[in-house]
Amino acid sequence: MSNRELFNEACRYIPGGVNSPVRAFKSVDGIPVFAKKGNGSHLIDEEEKEYIDYICSWGPLILGHGHPIIKKAIIEASEYGTSFGLPTHLEVEMAKLVVESYPGIDQVRMVNSGTEATMSALRVARGYTNRNKIIKFEGNYHGHSDGLLVKAGSGALTFNMPTSPGIPEEIISQTLVCTYNDLASVEQCIAEYPQDIAAIILEPIAANMGIVPANAEFLKGLRELCNQHQIVLIFDEVITGFRVSYHSCPEYLGIIPDMVCFGKIIGGGLPVGAYGGRKEIMEMVSPSGPVYQAGTLSGNPLAMRVGLAQLTYLKDHPEVYEHLENSARYLENGIQKILNKLNLPYQLHRQKSLLTLFFTSQPIQGYADVQTCDTKMYALFFKEMLSQGILIAPSQFEAWFLSDAHTQQDLDKTLDAVYSALVKCHDSLSD
Ligand code: PLP
Repeated sequence: MSNRELFNEACRYIPGGVNSPVRAFKSVDGIPVFAKKGNGSHLIDEEEKEYIDYICSWGPLILGHGHPIIKKAIIEASEYGTSFGLPTHLEVEMAKLVVESYPGIDQVRMVNSGTEATMSALRVARGYTNRNKIIKFEGNYHGHSDGLLVKAGSGALTFNMPTSPGIPEEIISQTLVCTYNDLASVEQCIAEYPQDIAAIILEPIAANMGIVPANAEFLKGLRELCNQHQIVLIFDEVITGFRVSYHSCPEYLGIIPDMVCFGKIIGGGLPVGAYGGRKEIMEMVSPSGPVYQAGTLSGNPLAMRVGLAQLTYLKDHPEVYEHLENSARYLENGIQKILNKLNLPYQLHRQKSLLTLFFTSQPIQGYADVQTCDTKMYALFFKEMLSQGILIAPSQFEAWFLSDAHTQQDLDKTLDAVYSALVKCHDSLSD
């Protein structure tokens, strides 16, 4: 069946035809690419068209599709068993690896998604501080749990519904929303509720309104404010964890949070999440402490084997990070040269192997700035890229993800496509 036929059929049985909104390609006015097979940096769709893939499952596939160590781990899991509902040695190894990789973290609990990780971390922070309110930032996305779906990024921002109906006012009232990269907005909020704020949660590099890094003074200021007011600082590293470095954001940005949330890379492409923190905080979690959190498939041996295989590979092969950095820098420099040549004032942001080309001349610091992007132009650009065999995010407000499998040939083909796509979409607009 063609992508269009599959989508028509899907729309009959699945809301909007997809199991996660951004896959609908709605904001680029397109038809979803139905993936059939992945191979290294390439993806083949149901129409047998082949693409260089910069979605990479939205981050987990840092080694590309179908890496031999991942395949091996899946086969092993199928031989030993995929779920027992009992602890396994794999969970112990995974916890040890994660704890040893992340500065300041003593314990970690595995869950099944990033959404579950952030939701649970907040519950623990609330239990630990005995306070109810939390601070999040406009345009940061932390999954779809009720209290965090307020002024959110990612699909919520793409579809212009940053706050969802269906969430009771009482829940929203516990979420205070501040402005990313604006410390004064946080100080003001704390001054208003000095005894009530349990946690500040943020993406230390925002990746769900396009790539927007937190600046150094902002992060340092947050750390100081949290120390001063006994607020738990939570880094949501669902995207950045094990991507920006093997030691994640503390190593890259120099700030250590009290708690951290993971997902994506630590599962190697299987459903996973995790949250961790200092011992005295994590000991609040049941059965050590009174804060309840559980899961039938939490730490299941399939996800653990695959995640462990990927993390161990990353630990043993630091050259992966070097390759990612070189590839991403090459792409960044190439795109910037094209922008200069075509005299286009667009903003190009790169943080390690994450990249966004913002279709605006406005320098980007946060949510208000990304709103100035020309999303119609992005949609045209996306379609031109797709027609040339390059699959980038079907939304202006997401990142391009590089993997270790992307080759020099892929990068050069991508740059050729960027050049002709930009020329074409500007020509077609001026027609
Ligand atoms: N936090 C961040 C930073 C994310 O990017 C995402 C998803 O993309 C989540 C949390 C939610 O993770 P999941 O989709 O696994 O529930």
